[in-house]
Amino acid sequence: MLKPLPFRPSGAMLLVEPQVLERLSAFRQMETSAPEAGGILMGYRRGPHTHVTEATVPTSRDAQRRFGFFRHATHHQRVALRRWKESGETMDYVGEWHTHPEDDPSPSGVDFRHWREIAQASTRPMVFLIVGRSSNWCGVGLKNNLTCVSGANF
Ligand SMILES: [Zn+2]
Repeated sequence: MLKPLPFRPSGAMLLVEPQVLERLSAFRQMETSAPEAGGILMGYRRGPHTHVTEATVPTSRDAQRRFGFFRHATHHQRVALRRWKESGETMDYVGEWHTHPEDDPSPSGVDFRHWREIAQASTRPMVFLIVGRSSNWCGVGLKNNLTCVSGANF
């Protein structure tokens, strides 16, 4: 079930492929010992719209903690660069995801600060996804605007 989610301010739509959410749900922190996980989101930009089709997942080079995920500086970017080249420079880095040990997650102060840096550094909308134990939180950042788009297929 693929439902487009509108986000402000442009009336743009966000599409997240169900396979992406399925793949990330494997990292939900169901066990008390399960560490946080995260990676980057990749996909396509069509006009103002964003279509998420792929995500990187943690590798042994990332530091996974119960309350924190520290991404290896270059591994995920290398994957994104490779996909970008393989796709004839059409597939792009479109956002970030990580897990929270909460049923219905909400962003932390650290999340907001991190996302703001990313959104301000980009001229395009950036997708931010938190994978919780029973639901996900999703937002789209564009410069200083962060729009929550949770609901529908989340
Ligand atoms: Zn977080």
